[in-house]
Amino acid sequence: MRFEDHWTVATLAGIRDLTPDIREFTLRPDDSAGQPYAVGSHIKVGVLIDGQPDVRSYSLIGEAAPGLYRIAVRRAEDSRGGSRYLWSLAPGARLNIAAPASLMQLDWQREHYCLVAGGIGITPLLGAAQALLRKTPNVSLHYAVRSRRDAAYADELAALLGDRMTIHAADEGRRLVMTGLFAGLPRNAAVLFCGPMRMLEEARRAWSADGRVATDLSYETFGSSGQFAAEPFRVQLRDSGEEFVVPRDRTMLDVLNAAGHEIIADCRRGECGICVVDVVDVDGQIDHRDVFFSAAQKADNRKLCPCVSRAHGVVTIDTLERSDAI
Ligand SMILES: Cc1cc2nc3c(=O)[nH]c(=O)nc-3n(C[C@H](O)[C@H](O)[C@H](O)COP(=O)(O)OP(=O)(O)OC[C@H]3O[C@@H](n4cnc5c(N)ncnc54)[C@H](O)[C@@H]3O)c2cc1C
Repeated sequence: MRFEDHWTVATLAGIRDLTPDIREFTLRPDDSAGQPYAVGSHIKVGVLIDGQPDVRSYSLIGEAAPGLYRIAVRRAEDSRGGSRYLWSLAPGARLNIAAPASLMQLDWQREHYCLVAGGIGITPLLGAAQALLRKTPNVSLHYAVRSRRDAAYADELAALLGDRMTIHAADEGRRLVMTGLFAGLPRNAAVLFCGPMRMLEEARRAWSADGRVATDLSYETFGSSGQFAAEPFRVQLRDSGEEFVVPRDRTMLDVLNAAGHEIIADCRRGECGICVVDVVDVDGQIDHRDVFFSAAQKADNRKLCPCVSRAHGVVTIDTLERSDAI
């Protein structure tokens, strides 16, 4: 899905610490009265990383409040610095933001909805719970966190959902087990998931093992930190023999495009598959960070999404064959 972004300027009207690692930012856009936005909407926010402009996306918290947007940002320590930049801001700061857009697909006709959040993945689900509860009381939320003190918006959600919310705190030995959860859901339930990629993979496996329809599990991802930490790796092009180093803080897609290889991309977070390239050889290991390929396709290692996926060692690819790569 493509969006043409409409940018505006907003003032940071307020800051609130929700957990030790999650901070809420209230933004007041200059040019709108805070128009209503679709469930699951996010905004793009302009950030500065090492003095260079960049963009990060943040889900809008809850349903629209007049003239205001709320976002909640988890401070990612092992990162390029977008979240650290936002955490450095004080009220009154001015930010470039794009108009809200939603990628979330909800089947509004269902009788039963089960929302599943992992950590910061709670952010789009608060508004989803508010909207769904107007359709049906059969909305439950399973919220997985390391510890209760990491559960942002727990009070707001408890007020909304009461005992239909379960917090699964790992440090209390109450880890969320997807197989058990899904086995207990009515057959016509739809699941809406937002959380880390490893948790999503577990959810997909459990959903499929329970004989459910794949499209009844919809999900949103915020991007993946992968199986191992980002480190520099090399990429070779089969036909030209060119070789590039992909530094720790850049993607393969950016490096190839900066060198003049016009690889078309859209979502840039490993969901749409537009930028897929063929893998010819791997001397090392690929860290597939997309949600586009199945686990079997990832194990096969014949294609990768250069917008997010990384590697150890050297990967040889063929960009010319990507038109029939999917
Ligand atoms: C639709 C959408 C909604 C989102 N909503 C929220 C939200 O509500 N709250 C929130 O906190 N975040 C949200 N995000 C994520 C957010 O946009 C940022 O990705 C996040 O704040 C981290 O940015 P960063 O620059 O600090 O970290 P990044 O540098 O983007 O790093 C993020 C992770 O990727 C790994 N990484 C480091 N370097 C690289 C590299 N070169 N290539 C790939 N990965 C790397 C790091 O290990 C780190 O764990 C959302 C993302 C999307 C797409």
